[in-house]
Amino acid sequence: MKAQKRRDTAVELALRRELWRRGLRYRLQQPVADRRRRHDLVFSQACVVVDVRGCFWHSCPAHGSLPKANREWWRDKLRANRDRDDDTAQRLGEAGWLLLIVWEHDDPRDAADVIERAVRDRRSRAPIPAASRPGGK
Ligand SMILES: [Zn+2]
Repeated sequence: MKAQKRRDTAVELALRRELWRRGLRYRLQQPVADRRRRHDLVFSQACVVVDVRGCFWHSCPAHGSLPKANREWWRDKLRANRDRDDDTAQRLGEAGWLLLIVWEHDDPRDAADVIERAVRDRRSRAPIPAASRPGGK
């Protein structure tokens, strides 16, 4: 079994459809604060990234579990994933990005509500670069 996160999971696709329907545009699988780590959805203008996390691989508080076979190996493996998640969150925070986490058990519409609010709020506060202001060249 590979630890590689599956891409385009059902919840991620449902979430993307919902955000698109609400007029929100994003980029997929972009690195932000760390070139080695790509994020599922990136809203560059608002400095918001969204990671969709699998309950098992990322030890969700509600459904995280440890397989009975090869317990030690799994414990280390899952702990390493959590450490990496923590490190990623810290790097993003230091770089001024807001990280929103969507678990695979989350309702895509509820998740979209949170994301939409954050993106619209941060976008409206972001300074507009001079070059893109009308007549501001
Ligand atoms: Zn879960």
